[in-house]
Amino acid sequence: MEHKHFVTFNQEHFIGFTCFETSISYHFISKTELSILRIDVCFFGSSNNSKKTIVFQLENPVKDEISGLKEFLTDLFSYSGNLHGNPWFVESEMISEKEFYKIKKQGGKRMDERKNKNKVSDQNHPLIIYCAEQNLYPKPEDHSPHSWKANCPSGRQHHIMISTSSPEEHLWGCGYCKKKGGIEELKQWIESKKENIEMKNELAETQKSTISAGEKFSEELKNLPYSTDKIGQGFVIHIPQPQRDDKKNNK
Ligand SMILES: [Zn+2]
Repeated sequence: MEHKHFVTFNQEHFIGFTCFETSISYHFISKTELSILRIDVCFFGSSNNSKKTIVFQLENPVKDEISGLKEFLTDLFSYSGNLHGNPWFVESEMISEKEFYKIKKQGGKRMDERKNKNKVSDQNHPLIIYCAEQNLYPKPEDHSPHSWKANCPSGRQHHIMISTSSPEEHLWGCGYCKKKGGIEELKQWIESKKENIEMKNELAETQKSTISAGEKFSEELKNLPYSTDKIGQGFVIHIPQPQRDDKKNNK
């Protein structure tokens, strides 16, 4: 199957250097299918180079190749996982530079719409609801449609990461606390935290009542007809020797 060149674009790393050149070629199979050949050349290490062919399914039949290719490119730009960096136009015999950037913008818009849609439906995800109930303030993250973060139940100043699209047992994780799991694991962790806090509170109450009992005891000692000396935490009670009345005893 012979592929014809469609477009070449470079990708710029977020700190500002060009990291990849991507060339897209196509073969028009039908009004709903395009064969796409994508070649990625990395400027830093050929081990990152890749060449692959995919069949792109169009949702709606297109009237001609160029409509199909524009739809493919919009779709490509609408998933950040499809890119290594920020794309910029190099060459094409089929679309102008201006059209390229218009398509890129549309792709970005589609990405945002998808994210917003997912975020709205994610708000009803049991883990997000549970985090909100526990006052962990779950917030959506921008970089991927199902990513959220919430305050870490450890109470320390960092977040747990949540991915609502992950399988049940890998929904959340905290790299600092080295903990991860599903809803049950999070519940167990939070419950054990609460138990710890309750135990500490109980201990504090016991200490308080021990101290107040001690204070009460030392008040009572003052009213006794004995003199007392405080030594450290304790008391020495001086009990006076009974006075002998020799005369009486002799009777
Ligand atoms: Zn943590």
